[in-house]
This record gives sequence, C-alpha cells and structure tokens, in this order.
Amino acid sequence: MHIFKEIEPLRAFLDEKRKSGLSIGLVPTMGALHAGHLSLIEASKRDNSITICSIFVNPIQFNNPKDFQAYPRFLEKDIALLTQAGCSALFCPEDYTMQTGAYLQVSFGDLEKSMEGSFRPGHFNGVVKVVAKLFHIVEPDTAYFGQKDWQQFVIIRTLVEELKFNVKLSVVETVREADGLALSSRNQRLTDSQRKQAVVLSATLNESRQKLLAGDSIAGIKGLARNKFEAQAGLALEYLEVVNSENLLPLKSVEEADRPILCIAAFVDEVRLIDNMFL
Ligand code: AMP
Repeated sequence: MHIFKEIEPLRAFLDEKRKSGLSIGLVPTMGALHAGHLSLIEASKRDNSITICSIFVNPIQFNNPKDFQAYPRFLEKDIALLTQAGCSALFCPEDYTMQTGAYLQVSFGDLEKSMEGSFRPGHFNGVVKVVAKLFHIVEPDTAYFGQKDWQQFVIIRTLVEELKFNVKLSVVETVREADGLALSSRNQRLTDSQRKQAVVLSATLNESRQKLLAGDSIAGIKGLARNKFEAQAGLALEYLEVVNSENLLPLKSVEEADRPILCIAAFVDEVRLIDNMFL
C-alpha cells in the first residue's frame, strides 16, 4: 500500500492512475479502524480499481477539546489493517497539511438544526470543510460513507448537489457487534462494564422501532427511552429523535414521512456514542 502524507505526491499518483483509465474510490475516516470502516473499503474495492483511504482526526469538527484529545489513534495498526484489506493507498496528512482558514463558514440550515447539528455546534462546518478538501485533493469517482452517521451523509450529499462536485456518493450499512452495538472507534475507550452498558443504544432503537410499528406514539417511545437511561448510573441520553430521513426534520408521527429514521445519541460515562435505524 502506498502511504502519502503530502498532497502533491498523492495528486501525482492519482493523476497517473486516472490517465490509465482507472476509477478511484475514496473512504474518508478518522482512523482507529474497525470492521465498519473495512466494509466501506470492501464496497470501494468492489466498484473501483483504486481505493484510497484517508485518516485524519480533524480538529475543527470536535466541539469538545477533551473528546479530540481522547480520540483513539492507532496509525501503525490501521496501516496493517488497510494493507491486509487490499487498500491501494492511504492519505494520512499532518494537521498543517489540512489546515483551513477561519473565514469560510458553511451552514446547512434546517439540516443541522436537529441532532448532531444542535448538540455539537460547529461540527458539520468542520466535517464539510475537510470532506470538500479531500474531494478536491483526491477527485474520486465515488466516495463511501457509513449509514451510522446518517445526518453527516445527508449534509455531504447536499454539499455535492448544491456545489456540483463531480463525485458519486455511496452509503454503506452499519456494521454491528453480535449484541447489536454499532462499531465505533469510540467503543475502544469503553471499559468492559461500560461496553456492556453501551448496548442500550441499539436496544433502545430496536425496541422503539418495534413499538412505533405496533402503533405507539413518538412522544411515548421518547418517554420510555428517557426512563430507561435514567434508571442506569453512568448513562445519559442526549437525544432520541424520529426524523424524516430525507430532510432530517423531526416528526410528530411516523405517517408524516415516507422513510422515517430513528436516531440516538448518548453518553456512556464520558464516551459519546450515536446510532440510528430506519423504521
Ligand atoms: P469515522 O472514522 O468515525 O469518522 O468514520 C469514517 C466513516 O466510516 C464514516 O463514513 C462512518 O459513517 C463510517 N462508519 C463508522 N462506523 C461504522 C460502522 N459501524 N459501520 C459502517 N460504517 C461505519
């Protein structure tokens, strides 16, 4: 696997591949790779001749400096995993290479009024500035994102549509542990007992989904979820929302949207986790 830290050698490598008519898939990540990331790599390998993974823990998308410092970083292990997975190239720039000025601020209106947008002010501005830069550097044919960060996917899709980026987007299903917990780099920060507790996120989504399908109200399932989290020390529910998966607007009843999605964010002690499930 080729490893690039600087932009120009990466561009030269990719230009060469493009001239030979090879298609390029991009998988943007923040590293501490797990089987969820590897399923994005697999999807890209299926569709493209060249797969490039980027690893960059993007400081400007963290609204909490402690979360940024504590974010797991395992570059050597990640390189081994990507090599084994047959990834063609890794772009792992230093902060100075990806630095952005403070002037450009992007906002997405209603798309970021709820959920991650409202609980993590400035988060999507940071995400979009780094993803747009990666698109310009790599110029991929297709870029791969996980359903686990559904709001992020909808926002990046809007960026691509509104600014006419010449890239296709592909969304990959969430990979889970056997007990249902969505894989996340942040899971690596959990102790054994916290790890056991963390299953409450996917369990709550599953139960809420079943209840909504059986006719319960959205207000009702939110109340049950609050009670469930309050009953366990160390857990704190930030939100459970049922939104229209296209425009991310919160729903009062599931009939209001063709494809509702349930989204959850919660703390297991200091570790903040998110998950979602389509109705
Ligand atoms: P991250 O490194 O957390 O920024 O994630 C990089 C990409 O991997 C994002 O598009 C995520 O949505 C995706 N991803 C993270 N966790 C999973 C998972 N459990 N299954 C599938 N994709 C995931």
